[in-house]
Amino acid sequence: MGRKAVFLPYRARSVLNKHKYPDHWFWTRYTVYPYIGCQHGCEFCYCRERKYAPYEDIADFPYVIKIKENAPDLLRKALAKVPRDTIAVGDYQPLERKFGISRRLLEVCLDMDFPVFMLERSPLVLRDLDLIGEINRKSHASVLFSLIHTAQTPQAEIIDRMEHLAPRPQARLDAMCTLAKAGITTGICFMPILPGLCDTPENIELVIRQTADAGGRFVLAAPLTLADQQKTYFMQYLQVHHPGLLPLYRQLYPDKSYGPQGDAWLKVGRLVREICLKVGISDRMPRPILPGEKRALNKRAAELLANRAYSLELDGAQADRIWPYRKAAWALEELPQDIGLISKQMGLKGLQSIQGVGPSIGSLLEVFINKASNRDQVTNF
Ligand code: SF4
Repeated sequence: MGRKAVFLPYRARSVLNKHKYPDHWFWTRYTVYPYIGCQHGCEFCYCRERKYAPYEDIADFPYVIKIKENAPDLLRKALAKVPRDTIAVGDYQPLERKFGISRRLLEVCLDMDFPVFMLERSPLVLRDLDLIGEINRKSHASVLFSLIHTAQTPQAEIIDRMEHLAPRPQARLDAMCTLAKAGITTGICFMPILPGLCDTPENIELVIRQTADAGGRFVLAAPLTLADQQKTYFMQYLQVHHPGLLPLYRQLYPDKSYGPQGDAWLKVGRLVREICLKVGISDRMPRPILPGEKRALNKRAAELLANRAYSLELDGAQADRIWPYRKAAWALEELPQDIGLISKQMGLKGLQSIQGVGPSIGSLLEVFINKASNRDQVTNF
């Protein structure tokens, strides 16, 4: 018999994490999570890293779950003091049926008119489709699923065992279909791409095609990361269950390295892009910008620069070529003036007066501004 889960409700001191800028993957500015620990217990889970998992014994991670019982009240108070922006919210592990805190967080987001972003591994999220639909009508809601293989993947049996407490991939694809039909923006996080298991061209093509068929609009791919106690845990798991994979993982993640070494990941990222293009979806998540949103053009331009940084990364460019795009994107987030107006009044020289914008980024912005001649082009996504 499996180990029984223990639930530990407590009163948290705060619940809303605020970030200076929206992140360049999901476009979220805030995060709020109701539970610590996850009953899905995926063996590779990055949440086993010390900073996310305050457990003395990391084996407790899927079985001892801490519940922030006052999270909805804390969220309501916190949202009253911050500018409106997208919140990453929700956690639909099995205990959500009993405690319902993710649903209550969504109710707060709806009341306070904040757009939401959700990343799930369970179709239980569909229980709250009524609220998600209402938020989407008022502002915006995106619901993504974590998906790293399909039932047809040659290594499906091995990967299934690594996430055996989570709902099967087909259940997640079916849930995506329901969300897409309800008009909710959906796609997948193809993360973590496990070397030797998920990175085969066959699996990559299966995952992307089935996502597109289910109504997903994008595939965000990223490699496995391994840190501190999570690394020790996962390496021990491989040693016991798949010792044949250990040499590959030791070679890719030597000593304290967090991400995979070498250019194997870049090849995977490029292949993801190529197949996404072939099936007509994106490998980036379009930034949600609401009609009437202030400085919409600046936000869309920041997205362009962030995407350019990612393209350079896939091309294998050095960090000193990539970072200027990220920094200029952040500068645009903070700029109080509309870049369209700056360009109109002062031309390229005006754009180059923005912090971090030199001749080449300035010219790129100028072309973008000229193309985005009306607001619809800016807000549609
Ligand atoms: S569902 Fe996500 S958070 Fe939960 S164990 Fe799996 S990877 Fe970790």
